[in-house]
Amino acid sequence: SIMPATLSAISNGARRGILFKGGVHLESLSHVKAIAFDKTGTLTKGKPEVTDMIVQPNLNKSELLRTIASIENRSNHPLAIAIVNYWKSNYQDNLIHPDKIEDIPGKGIKAWFHNKEWLIGNKEFVGQQEAEQFENGVSLSLESCGKTVVYVKGSEGIVAAIGLQDIVRPETKKSLMVLQNEGIHTVMITGDSKNTAKNIAAQANINEYIAECMPETKVETIKKIKEHYGIVAMVGDGVNDAPALATAHVGIAMGEGSDVAMETADVVLMKNDLSRIAEAIRLSKKMNRIIK
Ligand code: ADP
Ligand code: MG
Repeated sequence: SIMPATLSAISNGARRGILFKGGVHLESLSHVKAIAFDKTGTLTKGKPEVTDMIVQPNLNKSELLRTIASIENRSNHPLAIAIVNYWKSNYQDNLIHPDKIEDIPGKGIKAWFHNKEWLIGNKEFVGQQEAEQFENGVSLSLESCGKTVVYVKGSEGIVAAIGLQDIVRPETKKSLMVLQNEGIHTVMITGDSKNTAKNIAAQANINEYIAECMPETKVETIKKIKEHYGIVAMVGDGVNDAPALATAHVGIAMGEGSDVAMETADVVLMKNDLSRIAEAIRLSKKMNRIIK
């Protein structure tokens, strides 16, 4: 049976845009010792914009960009949406249809046009050495400003590097500070590069960051944080965060997140506002005081 104090906490939460899927999560939340956060779409707005475009000089730029946008048009990753939007606002031409695509979560996307293979994704995905030869140090300066760099590889090798900038949510830094003042350890877990993660971590003033994580690595990281700190919550928005949300004691999804994240999570922040996490913890502690 559900206690009146629990019901009251759940309805108070609902009024503040915090959806608790049950009383058990409230109990766990009151004891939380560490919180892990996804980067893109969680600590940041998740609406990146293309800021830099480096294209192999001897190629037809608009044709190449059309191919890139046509491939990304088949993905709903925030970086893909940004690249398609960039194409739409700079070129009038229509997109074309790849023969086949393959989405590789945490890495990028693979596509085929007339048996020609294309790769769009991070350095590791397209080949680190080749990517570094192409960008020749530019990626470090972009990543040091918190930008994400995506590489494009065709049959003739790397042909483009694209810089994308996402912004840290206005409430991120303060929300993390409030949690840290409650003695909660905060960690960022991201699939992005170390340099980008370092910059965003500094802007958010988060205690720790772990970069270049595949969806499985996010799960392993949550397990390690559990061993080290005890009760752990994870906050995320993406399809790739769902396994980590399920692994944490309390999974918290952003209301603007993917359906999978919201279904997997125990708590949903309907207003996409990170300051509601501290509020959820406060409600859970109040409930516990009444019950005990
Ligand atoms: P995060 O953990 O920050 O949400 P992801 O795990 O979704 O990031 O992706 C990690 C990295 O993989 C991205 O930074 C990007 O380099 C690459 N990537 C993933 N999907 C795509 C895509 N559709 N297009 C280009 N790059 C991608
Ligand atoms: Mg995300």
